[in-house]
Amino acid sequence: MAKKDIDWGNIGFGYIKTDKRYVSQYKDGEWDAGTLTEDDTVTFSECACVFQYAQTVFEGLKAYTTQDGRIVTFRPDMNAERMMDSAKRLEMPPFPKDRFIDAVRQTVKANEDWVPPYGSGATLYIRPFLFGTNPVIGVKPADEYQFRMFTTPVGPYFKGGAKPITVRISDYDRAAPNGTGDIKAGLNYAMSLYAIVDAHNAGFAENIYLDAATRTKIEETGGANILFIDGDGNLVTPKSNSILPSITRRSLMIVAEKYLGIKVSHREVTLKEVAEGSFKECGLCGTAAVISPVGCINDHGKEIRFASGMEKMGPTLQKLYDTLTGIQMGRIEAPEGWIYEI
Ligand SMILES: *Cc1c(COP(=O)(O)O)cnc(C)c1O
Repeated sequence: MAKKDIDWGNIGFGYIKTDKRYVSQYKDGEWDAGTLTEDDTVTFSECACVFQYAQTVFEGLKAYTTQDGRIVTFRPDMNAERMMDSAKRLEMPPFPKDRFIDAVRQTVKANEDWVPPYGSGATLYIRPFLFGTNPVIGVKPADEYQFRMFTTPVGPYFKGGAKPITVRISDYDRAAPNGTGDIKAGLNYAMSLYAIVDAHNAGFAENIYLDAATRTKIEETGGANILFIDGDGNLVTPKSNSILPSITRRSLMIVAEKYLGIKVSHREVTLKEVAEGSFKECGLCGTAAVISPVGCINDHGKEIRFASGMEKMGPTLQKLYDTLTGIQMGRIEAPEGWIYEI
């Protein structure tokens, strides 16, 4: 066994097939024992529930090589729990938490050679997903399911440092109140594709969605929660039951308070207060990039600029970023239970 001969710093963010993936089938009311396989294809009836009615949920996490050479994952228990919540909301059998964590261990272990080395900036992305597999034509949940977990190495999200991006306030809605915005379902992404392509064509990196009911409050982007730093240096994160509960965001809230002595406020945030200049830094957060700095929000032609500017991440977000990535890479001691060694 030897590390793959790959230019880790230049692999980008695309799918690269690795050696093994984990598969478990649900049939007759129970999950089978699960196994690792080399087969990266799936074959089901053309009428499988996932194809007709999008009955599918997913997760995303990463495996890293720490400074002292261990392979670790970050809070996989949180992904396991969130996936169970997602599954229940789409009337799917939850994949048990202990089995999810065991599947992460098995899948990463089997693809050890694909875990990028420490310092390369690259990581091994882990994609668990769950979908209804038997034919369903009348609208109802499937009876049979597959849980699958594959890995793919991904390059450093920002080559040569994180440059602030410009995002726009979207005219499309992401999630309705009491809808599915708080679960990680493929359907939330399908409906965002038109808006994201439209944003890119208009020269923006991302869409910020407002709450669908009043269109006055900040929700999140298509795939990341939003962070603000106010004039007193406090971390403010938008609260709503149609925002996906990001594990990165929840971890940063703890890092802010426990490691950096930054006050945290998780509350409703209005577009009005953002436009009035209440915040001096802004960023997007998620597993992929940890924090992406936002330098400017474009609200229908009106530019809301943050004091941190368009050259680099604001100082407070940078501290949060450095501390959380330090914890993930083993340079800073982690809170109990955050790091799972493979
Ligand atoms: C996955 C996701 C996030 C980020 O969550 P993390 O657990 O931090 O990776 C944020 N918003 C949406 C809509 C997502 O799907």
